[in-house]
Parts: sequence; C-alpha cells; structure tokens
Amino acid sequence: MNTIYLDNNATTRVAPEVLDAMLPYLTDLYGNPSSMHTFGGQLHRKIEEAREKVAAMINANPEEIIFTSCGTESDNTAIMSAVESQPRRRHVITTRVEHPAVLNFCQHLGRKGYRVTFVPVNRQGQLDMDNLLKMLDDDTAVVSVMYANNETGVIFPVDALAGILRDRGILFHTDAVQAAGKIPLDVQRVPVDMLTISGHKLHAPKGVGVLYVRKGTRFHPYVIGGHQERGRRSGTENVASIIALGKACELAAHHLDREIVYLSGLRDRLETALLGCCPNVRVNGDTSSRLPNTTNISFEYVEGEAILLRLNEFGICASSGSACTSGSLEPSHVLRAMGVPYTAVHGSVRFSLSRFNTEKEIDRVIEVVPGVIKELRQLSPFGREKISCPPE
Ligand code: PLP
Repeated sequence: MNTIYLDNNATTRVAPEVLDAMLPYLTDLYGNPSSMHTFGGQLHRKIEEAREKVAAMINANPEEIIFTSCGTESDNTAIMSAVESQPRRRHVITTRVEHPAVLNFCQHLGRKGYRVTFVPVNRQGQLDMDNLLKMLDDDTAVVSVMYANNETGVIFPVDALAGILRDRGILFHTDAVQAAGKIPLDVQRVPVDMLTISGHKLHAPKGVGVLYVRKGTRFHPYVIGGHQERGRRSGTENVASIIALGKACELAAHHLDREIVYLSGLRDRLETALLGCCPNVRVNGDTSSRLPNTTNISFEYVEGEAILLRLNEFGICASSGSACTSGSLEPSHVLRAMGVPYTAVHGSVRFSLSRFNTEKEIDRVIEVVPGVIKELRQLSPFGREKISCPPE
C-alpha cells in the first residue's frame, strides 16, 4: 500500500535534489568550516552560497541571514533579542494562535515579569488588527505575529502591520515557518525586522532554521559561544543541512508560482468534494486568505483521532486538532481561540499538501473519506442521533 502523505505542515519529505546537494557534506567533505586547512576552509564558501540562496528567496541581503538549529530557536532568539536590546520596554504583543515556539516563550516571559498581550482572532481565525493596534504603547518592545497559521493556513495581514509598526518604531518579528516556500515573501516590500524560517517545512531536513534580522536592527545573540555566524549564533555550523536549506530555498523560489496554482487546485478539489460528502462538515479558517496547500475540515460528531486512525489504515496521513492526536492534553488552542464549537474542534482534520502529491492521490482520499466518516458516525451513539448520513 502506498502512503498518501497529506501532513506537510508537520514536516516535509527532503527533496531528492536537496538530498543530492547535502550528501557529500555528510560523507567526504566533513571538515569544520572554521579550520584553516583547505578541507575545512572550502566549506565556508559553500555556507555563504547557501546564505545567498536563502536571502534571495525572501529578497534579503545575505548578511541579514543567521543560520540556527530550527524554527523554535529562531522564534525564541528574535523575541529574546528584542526585549534584551530594549531593557526599559517590558511589554510584548503576540496572538492567541501562535505556534508554541512563540506562545510558550511569551508565557515564559510573562512569568519573568514582562507584560504580555495575546491578541484574539475572529471566527475565521483572522487577526483582530484593531485590537492589536489598541494594545501598542510606549512600553511595547516587540510584536510577534505569525505570517500564516500552521493549523488553518490563514495568512495574517503582516504587510499592513509591518508598515504601521515601522512608522511607530516598534520591533516586529514574524514567524514565517509555514509561509516560506508556499507564498511569496519579500522583506524589501514588507518591512519586518525579524523573520523565522524552518528547513523541514520546505523540503530540507529537520534541525536547521533561519532568523532573518534586518540590517541596523539591534541584536542580542541567544546561543553564546564561538565566533560562528559572526557571533550572532555560536556553535559549529550544521554544514550539510545549511547547504540543503540553501538548495531547498532555491527550488522553492524557482517553482513558487507554479506550485501555488498546482497546490491550491488540488486542495480546492479535495475541500469541495469533502464538504459535499456528508452533512455537518465545515472548513475552519478564512478561505479568502489562506496558504495554497492547507485545508482544515471539521467532521462534526466524530473524533478526529478516530478519523486519523482509520485513514492511516488506508495509508493516508493527516493530522487533527483533537487532543490525543496533537500530542497535548488540550484540543487545538487555535480552533478554540476561533470559537469553533467543541464538537467541530474534536472532529477536525488538517490536510496539508506538497509538490509531491498527485491528483491520483487526492482522488483516492476523496474516495475513502466519506465512507470513513459515515462508518464512524454510525458507530458513535452521539453521531447516530445527530446525523443521518445519506444512503450510498
Ligand atoms: N512555527 C510554526 C508556525 C510551526 O509550524 C513550527 C513547526 O511546526 C515551528 C514554528 C517550529 O519549527 P521547528 O520544528 O523547526 O522548531
């Protein structure tokens, strides 16, 4: 049975071209870029080439790119740097629907005595901009708002916000982990101060990330040690993964326009079919401003984890906002912040696509899901009472 992998917001397959680019640096070219001999020294140039490719994808200058170990480290570093470089400012603003890499770090700052504002979203998962703007004050050190949400794919108005915050002189960090490689990013057009990318969400391996820091932004390193990354992030470079990330960014930039059309076409086909397959099915999130690869669908009165387990038996991999499958004790904080009803949160499934998915795979999912939902609703006394599925 072939696997149909529709969980690309969790992680992606390393692209074959990316693997080819990185392999020599795990086998023959294993030197340390800091070494004086040619065995190490030649790697330095390769890292700089990767930096240029990452920078090109977001229209930055290469010297504004810092390689890190992951998206989480980049997010933590950005927010910590912002508060450390402005010790008199004690207020941090973020949203209620951030990834834990931002959300839990801000909660940590709250416990350390910072004032933290978690801005709400509306029922479509869209940012409450008016509310956010009202919260800004002279004490605000940084605003950290994600570019696109990992669970719903909703894209926030980061461009508008960046302009306003620049005019107000307030540092702005955006977690672009889910946006990078899926929609155009341009730091010349959108004046963010700091931006996070993670390798494993765009067909590079796990364990490598990027923090973009605009030239002129005061920066305090989070990982302190040697001189690597010009002292902005110490630790011997993860050479193979950095080279892989450079290649992945080059590929993403090259294929972006075509992939947006391809993925949104596949996603819409899947979504339309599933919405029509049975009653009490809904899409979570603002469909007018969404990543091209993501749909979050609630099949009410069914447990998300039961759906995932059944889909898994058909070789279909997706994820859910219900508690057990999300690896936490609580159901999705994103869907709850949107006011999605309890029954819909528990029956939510996220399908997230990549360039490696095919029409045939989507058709197979469209064929399998209705039967799974019908079967599970018939098994659940709650579902049987509430929903009568149409006969096949
Ligand atoms: N931010 C967002 C929006 C994410 O989706 C993720 C990973 O799921 C992260 C941050 C964390 O990235 P990493 O897994 O590289 O630490």
